[in-house]
Parts: sequence; structure tokens; C-alpha cells
Amino acid sequence: MIEILNVSKSFGNKKAVEDLSFNVIEGEILGFLGPNGAGKSTTMNIITGYLSATTGTAKIDGIDILENPIEAKRRIGFLPEIPPLYPEMTVKEFLGFIYDLKECRFPKEPHLREICEVVKIDDVYNRIIKNLSKGYRQRVGIAQALIGNPKVLIFDEPTIGLDPRQIIEIRNLIKMLGKEHTVILSTHILPEVQAVCDRIVVINQGKLVANEKTEDLILAVDGSRKLMAKIVGPEADVLKMLKSTSGIRYVESLGRRDTDSISYMIESEDKIDIRKTLFYNLSKNGWPLVGLEGMELNLEDIFIRLINKEKKGTEKKKRGAK
Ligand code: ADP
Repeated sequence: MIEILNVSKSFGNKKAVEDLSFNVIEGEILGFLGPNGAGKSTTMNIITGYLSATTGTAKIDGIDILENPIEAKRRIGFLPEIPPLYPEMTVKEFLGFIYDLKECRFPKEPHLREICEVVKIDDVYNRIIKNLSKGYRQRVGIAQALIGNPKVLIFDEPTIGLDPRQIIEIRNLIKMLGKEHTVILSTHILPEVQAVCDRIVVINQGKLVANEKTEDLILAVDGSRKLMAKIVGPEADVLKMLKSTSGIRYVESLGRRDTDSISYMIESEDKIDIRKTLFYNLSKNGWPLVGLEGMELNLEDIFIRLINKEKKGTEKKKRGAK
């Protein structure tokens, strides 16, 4: 449904996107992730035709966005990070205005009414947008994207700034929309990706770093356990011991968090429970373990791991080429 092929985009000397290729299959919800500045917005702007690629092509439903922009854009509903609303208009006036802009062919009133029912804004249809809560305004933003019943929906950080209840409602709404549409969802929030997306594309510095099914990606990077240990002992010696312990993949000192102990983040190798070894090794050295707890991986950890993996891969390749 969406084909991105060798897309690059430069702003002056700055390469925002570099030789990026991926597809989104019909009916799929794709999570589009990456650290700040990775090139996500630029890519979404290329897909939606707001920006032209320096090289490469973006096709929607087989239609090149640059060769036939009107037909391609008809197939896309876009919700940018800041919903493009006119706050002085009522919901009805605003949606009517977008309907006219899009030259939508469905009967106007029933079409808008149906959308309002789907996104649950029918109770505020005649209210002025600026008086609505942020959650409702976000729904109005989603409603404008749905006008014309486009096959593809692109949402840029749709739950940012919402309260936890609104977040769950918007997520459920996106999931429901995913049954009828192909969706690209850009987000920073890991549980959101896990809850909503079938597949994940991760980019960093404009380049693809991962393109995998959600569960495979989470498993691949979350196969190990991450612990926080509070240890009393000389930091450099403790670190040295931990780094040389087999079964530990990564150690980092988090510094002194209370008067006598230092906290360490410890990641074990896949499927290894390091706790007993850790206890015995520390006790052998006479360094008391005064706290041990599990740490959840967050999206930033996943980015760092994927990016490090990528770096190692490229270094190996470079060394191999010499
Ligand atoms: P993301 O959405 O992942 O945070 P962006 O696509 O906004 O990343 O930006 C990617 C890179 O391109 C950043 O380094 C950003 O500063 C740069 N960039 C984006 N838009 C422009 C622009 N109009 N002019 C110059 N540089 C830009």
C-alpha cells in the first residue's frame, strides 16, 4: 500500500533522510520510530507530499506522490503532531471546510456525521474548537484525516500531551481504524507501539536500523534482563569485577544514590538469570549487595541497542573490507 524506495532528502548539506526503503502492507499498523532528529517527520512529509524527496520515490497504492499528487493525496489522511485546527470554528464548520478543501465526493452531512460517531465527537459537533479539551481536539484532528475515507492514515505522535485516559481512548481508536485502513504511527512511547502496531520500522540519522514484527523486535532486544544493583564497595573494582563476570552483557555505574552504596545497571546475556552469580561474586569480595531490582526496558534503551548493533555491524564490515 505504501512503498518507500531509496528515498533521500537533504536540507543544504544536512542529510535528513538517506537511502530509506520500506513498505507498508495493506491493513497493517506500522510503528515508525527513531530518536529526535532521526528523520521521521521528514519521511512522513515526503509520503504525504508536503516535501519532495531529493532522490527516490514514494508510492501510495501504486501512485507516485510526485507524478500524480492529487490522486495519491486522496488516499492519505494525515494528522500532524500539532493538529491543523481553526480554533474559532465549530467542529461542524471546520470539518465542513476540510471536506470542501479535499473535494470529497461522499454526501457531506451523512459522511461528516458518520466520522464524528466513529471518533466519538458527535456530542461536541456544534461546539467551538478552542473550548474543547485537548483529547477532543485530537479527535477532531483524527476526524479531519478520515474525511474522504482515505486508505492510508498517517499519525504523527497522536497521543502527545494527553492524559492517561485519553491516551488509552486514542490508542483504541487507532487500533479500530487499523482494521479498515493502513496506518503509519509515529510515536515515542513503547507501550503504545506494543499495544497498537503490527510491525516496527526504526530509523536513526535518516537511515533504516530495523524493520521487524513488533513481537520479534521486542524479543530481540529484550531477551536479556536488566537489573539495578546497589552495591557497597570501591566503584572501579566493582565495575571491573562486574564487567569480567560471564553472563553479564553490559554494566554501567549510575553513581551514588544513597550514603554508602553505588547503583549499577546490569544487563545479563539472553535468558541468563545472573542474580545468584552476582551475589556469590560480591560476597567473595566482601562487597555487600544492599538492593537489587528489575528495570524495564524503554524505547530509548531499544534505540541505543539497535543503533549500537548497527554500528558494530558497519565497523565489522569496514574491517572486513580492509
Ligand atoms: P524527527 O521527526 O525524527 O525528529 P526530522 O525529520 O524533523 O526528525 O529532522 C531530521 C533532520 O533534518 C534533523 O537534523 C533536522 O534538524 C533536519 N531538518 C528537518 N527539517 C529541516 C529543514 N526544513 N531545514 C533544515 N534542516 C531540517
